[in-house]
Amino acid sequence: MSGAVGDPIPLARPWLGGAEEEAVLAVLRSGQLSLGPRLAEFEQLFAQRIGARCASAVSSGTAGLHLALRAVGVGDGDEVVTSPFSFVASANAVIYERARPVFADIDPITLTLDPDAAAAAVTERTRAFLPVHIFGWPAELEPLEALGMPIVEDACEALGASYADGRAVGSRGHAAVFAFYPNKQMTTGEGGIVVLGGEGLKAQIDSERNQGRAPNMDWLDHDRLGFNYRLSDIACALGIAQLARLDELLAARTTVASAYREALAGIEGLELPCPDAGGAVRGWFVFTVLLPRGVDRDATIEALRELGIASKAYLPAIHLMSFYRERFGHRPGEFPVTEDVAARSIALPFFPQLREEQIERVARSLAVVLGQA
Ligand SMILES: *Cc1c(COP(=O)(O)O)cnc(C)c1O
Repeated sequence: MSGAVGDPIPLARPWLGGAEEEAVLAVLRSGQLSLGPRLAEFEQLFAQRIGARCASAVSSGTAGLHLALRAVGVGDGDEVVTSPFSFVASANAVIYERARPVFADIDPITLTLDPDAAAAAVTERTRAFLPVHIFGWPAELEPLEALGMPIVEDACEALGASYADGRAVGSRGHAAVFAFYPNKQMTTGEGGIVVLGGEGLKAQIDSERNQGRAPNMDWLDHDRLGFNYRLSDIACALGIAQLARLDELLAARTTVASAYREALAGIEGLELPCPDAGGAVRGWFVFTVLLPRGVDRDATIEALRELGIASKAYLPAIHLMSFYRERFGHRPGEFPVTEDVAARSIALPFFPQLREEQIERVARSLAVVLGQA
């Protein structure tokens, strides 16, 4: 077998069609590019799809996390218990409010927050939990719910995921945040949305994303601090069009994941994402593998790149990033599961239109690079 160089295979690529183009064009032609009719329409359709009461669309997943944390009352000096194995945005959003992200280690199989570790991290300053449905796996929430504190779910990687009872991630009544960057399950270019169990929080988030404007007041009256976290009607129209074909987008990702599982099965020592179990279903966002212990991860990524295959260290442990080390004094050894996983995991090319032969080429190249072909 050879790892011959072929056309470059990117890490991610959105799947956009004629319906998306038409929807965006229609907004451009309407002349109403923001705060128009597509905003409420997108919010309603998305909430409906998840099975949530309502939703507020915002300019990014990060903005959604920020406003959701504010909405549940996180502020100066509070602590928020969260996962160190996440995209850095989830912990950053806590810091925006001068609160402190308190990390707890993850479960080695699901890679989501270990509920016992999370409970052990609670202090009298703990104000909320911020579990992350990492790589689209539905994090275990019941033990956290039993502790009776607000929960903000980082569901930015978990569109399409569901629990054993069949209910979608995001439908449990907590504030849950989804994101629409082009590598996510569906895209609005940039964008995010907070789904909510009640209208009260929506009113606050709607106001704060729009400079703190009171919804029914004259437009220059601001009764609270706000931000500009609005999502344009152009983006909402794109979101509506993607949402209309979400089943197709998700099914294609699932097919690619299954093909990877088969293609990579023969590589010794490689750990694949945990399969769906106990009725829970992953919403496929990335396909990450854990390299065998002792393999040089950075050299592997470089060797794959030379074969035309994009891959990425995904994800680095947040507590070991230099900003977090300096600000909070974190050191290696604090969260051993996270650190082990973060040192070995790489994301492989993963998107709905990835072809069977490309998947096979990725698998073959990885085998060659690992000295197994
Ligand atoms: C994508 C992502 C976000 C936020 O995304 P934006 O780029 O701000 O839209 C937050 N958390 C996780 C885990 C993510 O993967």
